[in-house]
Amino acid sequence: MQHSKNIAIVGSGLVGSLLALHLKKVGHTITVFDRRPDVRLVEFSGRSINLAMSNRGWKALREAGVEEEIRKLAIPLYQRAMHVDNDPVYFQKYGKEGEAIYSISRGVLSRKMIDLAEAAGVEFRFEEKVWDVDLSEAKLYTGESEKGEWKEYDFDLIFGADGAFSRVRHKMQRQSRFNYSQDFIDVGYKELRIPPNEDGSYRLDKNSFHIWPRGNFMLIAMPNLDASFTCTLFMPFEGEISFEAINSGEKADNFFSEHFPDIKDEISNLTRDFMKNPTSALLTVKCYPWTYYDKIALVGDAAHAIVPFYGQGMNAGFEDISFLSELHQKYGDDWESIFRIYQEERKPNADAIAELSYRNFLEMSSKTADPDFLLRKKIEKHFATRHPEKWTPVYSRVTFSENPYSEALQEGDRQARIMDEIMQLPGISEKWDSKEVEDRILELLKGK
Ligand SMILES: Cc1cc2nc3c(=O)[nH]c(=O)nc-3n(C[C@H](O)[C@H](O)[C@H](O)COP(=O)(O)OP(=O)(O)OC[C@H]3O[C@@H](n4cnc5c(N)ncnc54)[C@H](O)[C@@H]3O)c2cc1C
Repeated sequence: MQHSKNIAIVGSGLVGSLLALHLKKVGHTITVFDRRPDVRLVEFSGRSINLAMSNRGWKALREAGVEEEIRKLAIPLYQRAMHVDNDPVYFQKYGKEGEAIYSISRGVLSRKMIDLAEAAGVEFRFEEKVWDVDLSEAKLYTGESEKGEWKEYDFDLIFGADGAFSRVRHKMQRQSRFNYSQDFIDVGYKELRIPPNEDGSYRLDKNSFHIWPRGNFMLIAMPNLDASFTCTLFMPFEGEISFEAINSGEKADNFFSEHFPDIKDEISNLTRDFMKNPTSALLTVKCYPWTYYDKIALVGDAAHAIVPFYGQGMNAGFEDISFLSELHQKYGDDWESIFRIYQEERKPNADAIAELSYRNFLEMSSKTADPDFLLRKKIEKHFATRHPEKWTPVYSRVTFSENPYSEALQEGDRQARIMDEIMQLPGISEKWDSKEVEDRILELLKGK
């Protein structure tokens, strides 16, 4: 039995909107506050940050009854297209036949989610920034400025879905025994755009995630519905090759000529956009507890922001909502149990995907040129192809399954221990695809 509660959600981002939809559908009164203007009324600049949606995200959307609507906005990517130096492009399938991640524009998705939540009866209050929260009383304070006059609102429950720099969490940080850490990496990112061809077609393969790996920097591109691609350049902030060093249009032009000659001419207004578009930072946020007084809970990036190298931040946030909704069905009005189990079970998984994402960053930035690392990957791939039931790559466990992230991390560690031993075998670089190596992996799999 569930009694209708008066619930506030701080943040109308992807996770906040999905939570609003879920809670509204089970009969609660929902008000969503956002400090920004309504994204649906802001003129669409045409620039679109796109995100990769995978199984966990789709599951949450399915449960909210909106999967079909959102599928119409997404483009399946079945493979990586690797643009390695001057070699011809080669393709690496992501998973089994038909498995794909989906490129979706953040702006388009966000507009749709707000539309759907509003149609279900959620009230959105845009341009209303939350400055303070009374955690024990579930009161919110909004206003034009920190020093100005504030409006007070009373709720039964408040969810902080207000992103990596959450104000709700900020208030929780002032409580005793609240743990918090924030770690920026030394790599930032900048977005650029590849427009459609004049006849409206895509300039690159539409169903691939394009990657130009270059050691400690890389360019990626994902397709949009309008046949453009959004490119993201990840690069150190400082150093020989860095955002700091490329401080003029001319240097940007030279940099792309040297490192990305195959794609340079396809990027629109390269020098102008390189200088004009912001360089943004990337961070991991960890904290605990995620809930207070059975009245306040953090979801999405507010609880666990991660670096984007596994494409899982939004997916993990959506999975928070799936899990909360599952608990809500099971425990009804017992919010104490819902919040307790929610944080106890989600926290290890959030830590696991944070760790996996950070490792992927290290792998991409420092190991892609290391011959030992490449050999190791080749052996793993060879073995996984021959014994798919015995070796599921960690990427597939994270992306194409709904099993806990913590299991994927554990299994990844087990595989790493096995591969450490395999790499010690004398003459491994010559006999990497031999029966002997295969048998040794099978033997180690039994023991570890
Ligand atoms: C470069 C990059 C690439 C990424 N790629 C992927 C990907 O491919 N796949 C994936 O799954 N994830 C990806 N992510 C992660 C993903 O973007 C985030 O995990 C996701 O957007 C988090 O959603 P959220 O709703 O929790 O927070 P946000 O999207 O940050 O939304 C927070 C909302 O709260 C509002 N707000 C903040 N403070 C206040 C306040 N005081 N009062 C009122 N409102 C407030 C903000 O205006 C905002 O609307 C990527 C992230 C980056 C940076």
